[in-house]
Amino acid sequence: MKALDELTFDNRFARLGDAFSTHVLPEPLDAPRLVVASDAAMALLDLDPAVAETPVFAELFGGHKLWAEAEPRAMVYSGHQFGGYTPQLGDGRGLLLGEVYNQVGEHWDLHLKGAGMTPYSRMGDGRAVLRSSIREFLASEALHALGIPSSRALCVIGSDTPVWREKQERGAMVLRLAHSHIRFGHFEYFYYTKKPEQQAELAEHVLNLHYPECREQPEPYLAMFREIVERNAEMIAKWQAYGFCHGVMNTDNMSILGITFDFGPFAFLDDFDAHFICNHSDHEGRYSFSNQVPIGQWNLSALAQALTPFISVDALKEALGLYLPLYQAHYLDLMRRRLGLTTAEDDDQPLVERLLKLMQNSGVDYTLFFRRLGDESAALAVARLRDDFVDLAGFDAWAEQYKARVARDGDYSQEQRRERMHAVNPLYILRNYLAQNAIAAAESGDYSEVRRLHEALSKPFEEQPGMEQYAQRPPDWGKHLEISCSS
Ligand code: AMP
Ligand code: MG
Repeated sequence: MKALDELTFDNRFARLGDAFSTHVLPEPLDAPRLVVASDAAMALLDLDPAVAETPVFAELFGGHKLWAEAEPRAMVYSGHQFGGYTPQLGDGRGLLLGEVYNQVGEHWDLHLKGAGMTPYSRMGDGRAVLRSSIREFLASEALHALGIPSSRALCVIGSDTPVWREKQERGAMVLRLAHSHIRFGHFEYFYYTKKPEQQAELAEHVLNLHYPECREQPEPYLAMFREIVERNAEMIAKWQAYGFCHGVMNTDNMSILGITFDFGPFAFLDDFDAHFICNHSDHEGRYSFSNQVPIGQWNLSALAQALTPFISVDALKEALGLYLPLYQAHYLDLMRRRLGLTTAEDDDQPLVERLLKLMQNSGVDYTLFFRRLGDESAALAVARLRDDFVDLAGFDAWAEQYKARVARDGDYSQEQRRERMHAVNPLYILRNYLAQNAIAAAESGDYSEVRRLHEALSKPFEEQPGMEQYAQRPPDWGKHLEISCSS
């Protein structure tokens, strides 16, 4: 275990120089205090969880203090927002404080979000509010616990600093961890500003640091792009399998590591709804739940365009062609497991699709359905779940097919079935109304609810005594909460 002042820095991105980022100091928050910290994320930096409670921790992550070796930088990037190209975005309110190495040699970017104005703030104030910081914290750690690749969150620091959104709120900072903060939009920036040297430097940097195994391939850049395609296909398959809606899949919010990145108006589905749009400002549903799949490919094409100086168009097209089949394979594999199946049959895809259609028409809770399906044998479970469906004849027909499919799958005990299914079907997910309750308490100075919810979500597959309230269907008021995009 390390003390806070024993972190080892090696700021490789900062060394790329001023064409890539700008030195900016964090702007401190008034009366910084710990709202919540993640023990698991602390461990990534070899930090003893107890240090989160010390005053110096809140000072460091509330912008008051800095390690001597930290080199805070705001990164420049651009990106396609809602399909249109914005020539310059960049870190408008976040700073890459530096890169830290842990004992096993992994490095982690420390990124402080809400750290004040930068040259890229445009019309913004450089701040993040407590509400959105808590949402990012809970979501990052919850996705990770579900096995969905994501940036991580070390802590949220609250404050007395007033910040104006639709109303006056309080400023906060969230400390984000990721192996890289490089986005598709970084490559787009250097491509569209016609800076081939920097573009090449960036590509070398990403290849050497994050895809070193691709060096062995005959065409390293192509191998790297292929790997990015594969990782994105897998990540989005997991979003779809677990009902995660990102909400703002602009290319500046897409990580070159294929991790879930930049949390705004995201939501987990309560009732299954393929057409769900979690982002208020997304009037056309560009980023609706089911559109995430084609948008994933659209975003990869935007990245491919920016890589045309390094890779032939034909090769890029071929790599892009891998996306959909890979997505489908990962998705089907996960859905089979969610249904408790251990083998593959040709008709599994329609079996899943028919179930989702029935769920869609009846407003069935997406998470609890799968959890309850594993509680009992297939026959008992479908008999009990039947009441949740409006189209009873349709459900009965599906249930017969499912039971027959389970029977063909193999001969195992109910104990084995439950164990296997509960290991992939969470009991606790970050429902919007749960986040909302925790935020309301935190806004009035009580952080216990955020901490408890975080604890429940950090072991989503394990039934935890005393956490029953997090495993319920949402109340009616909590189902279609309008989540403000302002953050
Ligand atoms: P987002 O939609 O959160 O991914 O943000 C898009 C761009 O706007 C990024 O460049 C952000 O850094 C910037 N941005 C968002 N909110 C603020 C803010 N309050 N102050 C300054 N820049 C911001
Ligand atoms: Mg963003």
